[in-house]
Parts: sequence; C-alpha cells; structure tokens
Amino acid sequence: MSILRKIKCDRCLEDTAAIIMSMFNRDHICMLCKSEEQELPSYERARDADVEAYKLGNKNFEGIGLSPADSEALMQMRAKRVITN
Ligand SMILES: [Zn+2]
Repeated sequence: MSILRKIKCDRCLEDTAAIIMSMFNRDHICMLCKSEEQELPSYERARDADVEAYKLGNKNFEGIGLSPADSEALMQMRAKRVITN
C-alpha cells in the first residue's frame, strides 16, 4: 500500500504533493500558499507569536489568525497566480 495520496491545500484548494502548517492558523497549506503568506507584512508577527507560544510550552498554538487585510492580500496573490499560469 502506498502512503502517497492526493492532498488538498486548505487555502487555495489545489491538489498538492506537500503540505505545511500555516504560521497564521491551523490551515494545512501548499508551498505556494506558504510562500505567499511569507510576503504578508504581518508574517513576522505571526512567526514571533508562534515561537513565543512554543517557548511557553504551547505546542498547539492556534496562530494569530488572518486579518481581513491579510486574507484580501492573499486572495490578490492567488488571483495573480492563476493569470501567470
Ligand atoms: Zn495552496
């Protein structure tokens, strides 16, 4: 039995071979979505909060969440992605 299976990105809903946890919330996202969220101005804050929570022993940190502005910025990056493909 193969352990390989199709995975869907929680954020852009595309099939992907690899998935990683978002720094902002509990979404399991593809590498494209990951690189896009790293471009958000609030990424550093999300990462710092994650590191801080881990240091305090919280290994199930929910993340700081995506603000409406963050979600909008990600949506625009995804829209561009479709055009350039
Ligand atoms: Zn994605």
